[in-house]
Amino acid sequence: MGHEKQVRLIDDNGLRVDGRRLDQLRPIKLEVGVLDKADGSAYIEHGRNKILAAVFGPREAHPKHIALADRAVVRCRYHMAPFSTDERKSPAPSRRELELSKVIRESLEPSIMSEYFPRSTIDIFIEVLQADAGTRCAGITSASLALADAGIPLRELVAACAAGKVDGKVALDLSDIEDKKGDADLPVAFMPKSNAIGLLQMDGSMTEEELGQALDMSVNACRTIYEMQKEALRQKYHIEREEEVTEEMEEVKA
Ligand code: ADP
Repeated sequence: MGHEKQVRLIDDNGLRVDGRRLDQLRPIKLEVGVLDKADGSAYIEHGRNKILAAVFGPREAHPKHIALADRAVVRCRYHMAPFSTDERKSPAPSRRELELSKVIRESLEPSIMSEYFPRSTIDIFIEVLQADAGTRCAGITSASLALADAGIPLRELVAACAAGKVDGKVALDLSDIEDKKGDADLPVAFMPKSNAIGLLQMDGSMTEEELGQALDMSVNACRTIYEMQKEALRQKYHIEREEEVTEEMEEVKA
C-alpha cells in the first residue's frame, strides 16, 4: 500500500477514479455451472476481476490419514494465473496465496454442513484469471456458489466484499489503484441469514468510527451480492422467482 499521494482518487464532485460514488459497488456478473469436469463451478466478474471457482466432492478422503471421523475435510487452493496481473506473477505458490487459501477456507467452512460427510474431502479451487483488487472477496462469493452447484448442503451462501479508505474517505469495494494508493482496505465475508462475519481483515489504518462505517458499508454490499448469488442459482436451475411461482399457483387455483 503506497502512501505517496500524487494521484487524486476522489474528485471535487465526490466521484472516484472509475466514476463511482463512495458507496457504490463495481459491476458484478455471476454465472453458475461453467465447468463440465468439476462437481460444481461458478464464474465471477467483479469489476475487472475475473475468477473461476471449481469444487470437487464430497469424495473419499485421499490420502486416508487426513480423513476425519465426524466430518468432511474442507481444502482450498487460491491461485493467481501468471497472466492475471500487470507484471507476470510467478506460477509457484506464494506466501500470499497460501494465506488467502487459508482465510478463504475459514470463511466458507462455517457455511458447509461437513458433518454429513465423515471420512471425505471437499476441495475448493479458486483461479484468478484477472486481478484488480478484492480477489479474495470475489473468490469467496464465487466459491460459495460453486459449493451450492456441487450439491453440497450449505447452511447459507457466503457473500464477500471489501470496503476501505481512500483520500481520507470511507469507500466501498476498492479497485486496484484505490487499494494501492489508498489508506486502508477491509475485506469482509458475511452470512446474511445468521448475520455472521466469517472473514475480517485490515490492511492500512482507520479510526474506530471509520472502521464501523466501512464494516456497515461492506455488510450492506454483501447483502446485495447475496441477492445476486441467489439469482445466479435460479438462472442455472431455472427456478422461477418466489413471487412468480406464487402467482402461477394462484392462476392454477383460480
Ligand atoms: P485482494 O485481491 O484480495 O485485494 P491483495 O490486497 O493482496 O488481495 O491484492 C490487491 C491486488 O494487488 C490484487 O487483486 C492484484 O490486483 C494485485 N496483486 C496481488 N498480488 C500481486 C502480484 N504478485 N503481482 C502483481 N499484482 C498483484
